[in-house]
Amino acid sequence: MKWRKHFEITPQRIVIKVGSASVSKDDGSINKPFLNKLSKDIAYLRENNIQVLLVSSGAINTGRQVIDPGKKKEIATQQALASIGQPLLMAEYSRVFKKHKIIVSQNLLTHEDLRNKKRLMNTRNCLFKLLKNGVVPIINENDSVAYEEISSGDNDQLAVLVADAIEADCLILLTEARGVYMESPKLSEPMQIVNFGQKLDIPTFGKTKPGRGGIQMKVTAAQKLTRLGKTVIISSFKWPKPIRACLEDNKGTFFRPSHKVEKKARIASLVKNDAKISVDKGAYVALLQNGSLLPVGMTKISGKFSRGDCVRLYYKGECFGQGLVEFNNDEAKKLIGVKSTEIKKIIKDAPSQLMIHRDNLYIGD
Ligand code: GLU
Repeated sequence: MKWRKHFEITPQRIVIKVGSASVSKDDGSINKPFLNKLSKDIAYLRENNIQVLLVSSGAINTGRQVIDPGKKKEIATQQALASIGQPLLMAEYSRVFKKHKIIVSQNLLTHEDLRNKKRLMNTRNCLFKLLKNGVVPIINENDSVAYEEISSGDNDQLAVLVADAIEADCLILLTEARGVYMESPKLSEPMQIVNFGQKLDIPTFGKTKPGRGGIQMKVTAAQKLTRLGKTVIISSFKWPKPIRACLEDNKGTFFRPSHKVEKKARIASLVKNDAKISVDKGAYVALLQNGSLLPVGMTKISGKFSRGDCVRLYYKGECFGQGLVEFNNDEAKKLIGVKSTEIKKIIKDAPSQLMIHRDNLYIGD
């Protein structure tokens, strides 16, 4: 196998994420030719002793074959569609991989499974055992139980969590676009390389359908992982050899990883999308100087979060950091402006006198 020139280290373990638009068609039928091409490329990687995990969307869209989703995006409908679509999709995956003598597993995960330490350990053990036995794990969000609070938000984010959890070296995000474009795709080629730390202000050229994440979300996902020292490639699912195209033929946009992996970058990769804590000037200054966040410095709490979640920090409307919280959103609301010595009077089983410990804090947006 002749690796793309941009790789400095040869990947040993790769996560590939495919979206609903590649796996299924508008009417909900499965895109069988694509699954065939994908399985062939993955079989080639396996022959080269590279471990592969697949994060696949498409359950909800595949369920449309059976029940009409209607116009309203009700959670119960999405869950019902996913429960129908997921086994249909897995049956097809099993069939195409069997041609290459590869066994696949179905691993349905929620945000909780990758965040909660004990569950993360179990999830990792299971995935490592599968990889060791030559299986290709096929992962999706556990949509039929994942409601907002425990969902990872979208499968790009799930792929980030998985790549981190199983210590992959590379994530491939396949999408409709041939990569990241800074000018209209009709007039230009996608960027070949994004260096670590390079800021990207991407113009919008229309949203991909029918999955949840657009290109901006993919770039955000990519940058979370490059901070953790992992390579990310955003490329098209439409190439005849979609995986080999980006690993061998320089297709897609290649995000170079950080050489110096920041310890706290892991925290940033876990952030919950809607959870926010706003702080006053005193807390803001203390946090920038490596302090912890005390409840007394909090001014506003928004979104839902549990103890241990990663929440964004805001000062004057600007996000400046993220951290793992000691209290959930209801408790945090009660603790706004409260002195640390008073916490126990309000929350009887308070686990801490801090809202966020400095060790669990990441400064940066
Ligand atoms: N888990 C969802 C599905 O399988 C898709 C989520 C997404 O598009 O990111 O349909």
